[in-house]
Amino acid sequence: THPTGADLVRLEDEHLAHTYHPLDVVVESGEGAWVTDVTGRRYLDCLAAYSAVNFGHSHPVLVAAAKAQLDRITLTSRAFHNDQLGMFAAALAELAGKDMIIPMNTGAEAVESGIKVARAWGYRVKGVAQDKANIIVADGNFHGRTTTIISFSGDAVATNDFGPFTPGFISVPYGDAEAIEAAIDENTVAVLVEPIQGEAGIIIPPADYLPRVREITTRRGVLFIADEIQSGLGRTGSTFECDNVGVVPDLYLLGKALGGGIVPVSAVVGNRDVLGVLSAGEHGSTFGGNPLAAAVGTAVVGLLATGEYQERARMLGARLEAGLRRLIGHGVVAVRASGLWAGIDIDPALATGREVCERLLERGVLVKDTHGSTIRLAPPIVVEPHDLDFAVDQLEAVLLEL
Ligand code: PLP
Repeated sequence: THPTGADLVRLEDEHLAHTYHPLDVVVESGEGAWVTDVTGRRYLDCLAAYSAVNFGHSHPVLVAAAKAQLDRITLTSRAFHNDQLGMFAAALAELAGKDMIIPMNTGAEAVESGIKVARAWGYRVKGVAQDKANIIVADGNFHGRTTTIISFSGDAVATNDFGPFTPGFISVPYGDAEAIEAAIDENTVAVLVEPIQGEAGIIIPPADYLPRVREITTRRGVLFIADEIQSGLGRTGSTFECDNVGVVPDLYLLGKALGGGIVPVSAVVGNRDVLGVLSAGEHGSTFGGNPLAAAVGTAVVGLLATGEYQERARMLGARLEAGLRRLIGHGVVAVRASGLWAGIDIDPALATGREVCERLLERGVLVKDTHGSTIRLAPPIVVEPHDLDFAVDQLEAVLLEL
């Protein structure tokens, strides 16, 4: 007989390192914004795998692209050309208004790749003295889990006992352009920031922050790297959050939704004057740019090229934000939203974010806390308006029962 949900949870408990603390639901299938657990119960997915499922579960166009490619070829390595990668790179570069890409798999790999490119650009183009390059980052950042990336994390849980750390990073307060200007020296090769800090709780900087970062970095001869891994690809009602504030960075770091929630696909996207500094053998990835990833990635870019998802995220986001703002003063302390992406601070005297998530789960809504009493809503962009209302109603009901 098939194992029960409890059996499956026990298996995970016994045979996986405890690096996560999942909610008590075992998902079996999903379609659009809804998933079904092993008992047949349906839940509205308001996390969308941290925005990797922006286009919804089992999107027919993306699944078809993946299935067609599965039957042809899935992996060649980049020792050879494949008939999918060139088209993907051209399409993604065009979507971003840039020349070229470095295809990788996970978000953290895109960040690592961006760091390497910036350093190489610093030594080879800017003329920084060997091994002196520094990159300015922001307090409260989340860029991934590798040893170099956690080297500039301020999160004690993410860093404790994982040192020694990689040098060459300077962290300044988020949202403070002056602090960036003051931190730049002759060895600064890049400023690396999230246009909105996702894991920190959907922290939206002042409206002039990114434009000022752009102005400062251009004037000081420093690269501006935007980590749009969570904020990009439709989530905030534009292709990139940078679009919302009229800013074009030198490098976009993309991941998550780029693989349509089907395969891990990430990329660094930029112009030839920067990405062109790398030559053969200096960087790579066995799976980066594989034909399956490229086929799905091309289909994802195709969806975004219509503008339809960005528009939908904008419309639905306004509806979600209005619904959430009604809850301020009724158990909610603050709401921060951009497009279909919202951070909600629950009154810490009432409950932790975790407790709210557990109660929402009982009510058929999957949500994840970020820190303390903050929860994040990031439903798939294909979510129906009445489903969003359902999510807000359930949150209201949870707050009433606390
Ligand atoms: N950068 C940002 C802004 C993220 O939100 C994340 C993941 O949450 C990452 C990088 C890391 O991506 P991955 O988990 O695919 O390595």
